[in-house]
Amino acid sequence: LLEVKTHETVLDIDLDAIVHNFKFYRSKLNPKTKMICMVKADGYGTGSSEVAKTLQYHKCDYLAVAVAEEGVILRKQGIKVPIIVLNSEVGGFEELATYSLEPEVYNFRILDAFIKEAKLQGITNYPIHIKIDTGMHRLGFTEEDLPELMDRVKGQTGVRIQSVFSHLAASESWNFDDFTLQQIKTFKKIAGEIEESCHYPVMKHILNSAGIERFPEEQLDMVRLGISLYGVSASGLNGLRNVCTLKTTILQIKHIKAGETVGYGRKGHFDHDATIATIRIGYADGISRQFGNGVGVVLVNGHQVSIVGNICMDLTMIDVTGIEVKEGDIVTIFGENLPVTDLAKKINTIPYEIFTSISNRVKHIYY
Ligand code: PLP
Repeated sequence: LLEVKTHETVLDIDLDAIVHNFKFYRSKLNPKTKMICMVKADGYGTGSSEVAKTLQYHKCDYLAVAVAEEGVILRKQGIKVPIIVLNSEVGGFEELATYSLEPEVYNFRILDAFIKEAKLQGITNYPIHIKIDTGMHRLGFTEEDLPELMDRVKGQTGVRIQSVFSHLAASESWNFDDFTLQQIKTFKKIAGEIEESCHYPVMKHILNSAGIERFPEEQLDMVRLGISLYGVSASGLNGLRNVCTLKTTILQIKHIKAGETVGYGRKGHFDHDATIATIRIGYADGISRQFGNGVGVVLVNGHQVSIVGNICMDLTMIDVTGIEVKEGDIVTIFGENLPVTDLAKKINTIPYEIFTSISNRVKHIYY
């Protein structure tokens, strides 16, 4: 591991662990099943360019981003792998075409606009990915839309359906297995009908990370690997390697007398003498204020210690009473020995939010 300089707050990203996790799923899938790696939201906060370059080298089949700008960044970094843009919008077709980005099409408004744009630009067979809503109720065509959808696609040459897909609402949750299986069933029916009326092969995909882990028999033509790539198994599967470690350092150590308070609003109370360390990370680095006042813990010199008082914009105080520490010591916010999943649970959120909240001010180091 690279050492943190005394003044730095860094996110260490273990690219070998990403490769391990990628290969871990690759080996579980049929050789012909393609893998779409999710690098949206800047690679779940880890840095999409570095992750995409690594995945490209290891022959990932597809990448997916949320918005066109994210895809453009990857193309400018030399990424040649096909890229799906999930939340494309009317008006963005030229940019998509310039950078060979393949849009998700989820309603008639987008479909018509892209068909029209393709015609105007003299483009034929532009690859699109049709999103089907099978119960998530977020984006997508429904079964009732099918006749009209196929009508509009048939009579034109501008776009070609490269894949049909849907998203599972609760694939990680045993309680909702009936619902998940119904989503998969509905999807297969709709996707089959679309393929039949297209008269050319159309790839189908519905599984996200937890879906791959829990319903591998439904891998179809492609799967979409997200959070598990970054070392977090949504369904509790063993065998993944930790990817992200957020670390900072101790700036100052203070000795507090019983009855004194710490930080804004005087929220950190002590009824005994205590030792406090101030660490160089705050909510502007992406650490939620909700971790303040004893909710969150951090790891210092092998000890889990509590956060004291309110988290400040740039600084946080921790209780190091009775522990051997010195200024400059490294403090782990989350990582191998302090799982991000445990941290997320403390404030009733999910690792996805913790990862993607880390701000640009935090230096990313790849190894
Ligand atoms: N597919 C779609 C459409 C998504 O929006 C996401 C993530 O939000 C994924 C796949 C990947 O999900 P996960 O990170 O749970 O694997």
